[in-house]
Amino acid sequence: MNFHDLGLAAELLQAVEQTGYTTPTPVQMQAIPAAIAGRDLLVSSHTGSGKTAAFTLPALHRIIDRRPAQGSGPRVLVLTPTRELALQVEKAVQTYGKALRWLRTACLVGGAPMFAQVKQLQRQCDVVVATPGRLLDHLNRRKLKLSDVEVLILDEADRMLDMGFAEDIDAIVAATPAKRQTLLFSATLDGVVGSMAERMTREPQRIEIEVAKEDRGQIEQRLMFADDIGHKNRLLEALLGDDSLQQAVVFTATKKSADELSLSLQEKGIAAAALHGDMHQTQRNRTLDRLRQGRIGVLVATDVAARGIDVAGISHVINFDPPRQAEDYVHRIGRTGRAGRDGVAITLSGPRETGLIRAIERFTGGRLAVHTIPGMEPAPRRPSGPRPGGNGGRRFGNGGGYGRPGGDSRRSAGGYGRGDGHASRNERSHGGRFDRGSRG
Ligand code: AMP
Repeated sequence: MNFHDLGLAAELLQAVEQTGYTTPTPVQMQAIPAAIAGRDLLVSSHTGSGKTAAFTLPALHRIIDRRPAQGSGPRVLVLTPTRELALQVEKAVQTYGKALRWLRTACLVGGAPMFAQVKQLQRQCDVVVATPGRLLDHLNRRKLKLSDVEVLILDEADRMLDMGFAEDIDAIVAATPAKRQTLLFSATLDGVVGSMAERMTREPQRIEIEVAKEDRGQIEQRLMFADDIGHKNRLLEALLGDDSLQQAVVFTATKKSADELSLSLQEKGIAAAALHGDMHQTQRNRTLDRLRQGRIGVLVATDVAARGIDVAGISHVINFDPPRQAEDYVHRIGRTGRAGRDGVAITLSGPRETGLIRAIERFTGGRLAVHTIPGMEPAPRRPSGPRPGGNGGRRFGNGGGYGRPGGDSRRSAGGYGRGDGHASRNERSHGGRFDRGSRG
């Protein structure tokens, strides 16, 4: 199949040709004809699948024949979770809409001056690309109307919900005509995304695109045993100092320990920040922005807060505390290996956490490879036979009496305090990649 088979207008085909693409990607093959036919769509697809063209091309196709009536509002509205994505989408609209001389776009995102955007809105805008918060600002100030929207596109809907935009999106959708076409794109169509999709689409066609194996980054999964929390802290610091580490997400079991661990890393001069559900939404957005900009090296997060984070620079996921639910393990490690890159996921297991590790291994159907750092090996435990599953006499992980000789499987109290941190400084200095000040 090539682009000519999709039913697109000649002007758009010409623009596609100029980009050099010859074959539509799977999401384009399925979504473009269905969208041209006027269907609402629910599409599960990932960044890198070619999804931007999959919604931009049919949206432009829809408005190509009619120049806007004088004084009409935008006919295509695209909502995206972030400023960066909005800019990318606007650029795609301009690229594919090049032959449409009259076509005007506006990009309304937070963090940019209101005034310039208001000025932009004073002239005709055919396509508006926006983040929900800023768009709602303009809407509330009556700087634009959405009553002429023919195509509403939600890009990365799951991320928008993760970022707390659900209410804003509902308010925006309510301001668009009921007879609009809605195209919703999301990494997942399950859970809250599914219920939102149900509210805002009519008899939608579902299109689910599997991520091609070769496009999926490899995630190497490792397991490290720790004697106690002090040992975990030392291992963590050594791991964060590794040269191959670009950015990391460190998972803790509780919001409190996320805060404490993040503070303790900051005290060591590491550009760390916490992300959890107790933080105000604007604060969470700011943290995620800084992560995307590379200004945060280590994000210390809880499960819920980190769901859906898609930052290509995250090379490592470290489970400081193993997840209590085995399925969370899969969500966690999926924060690395994004955009086709490889990633490393390391789970630290304390003496009492081997049951959680076994649950993860049962859930994923694979064994985690045990790693150690020279000089930081865990203390030998009482002998209790090899790990089941052909691991040939690995020293740890068979549950039961894993711990210090004599069965002292204590876990030091007191959390991630200064004491731990300073002890580890003598152990090995971190690589300083994210030393405070090195990155603005
Ligand atoms: P996206 O998933 O929309 O972020 O697109 C991922 C990348 O694929 C972008 O750099 C696009 O320019 C590129 N792309 C989109 N469609 C095609 C295609 N049919 N063939 C090759 N590359 C494409």
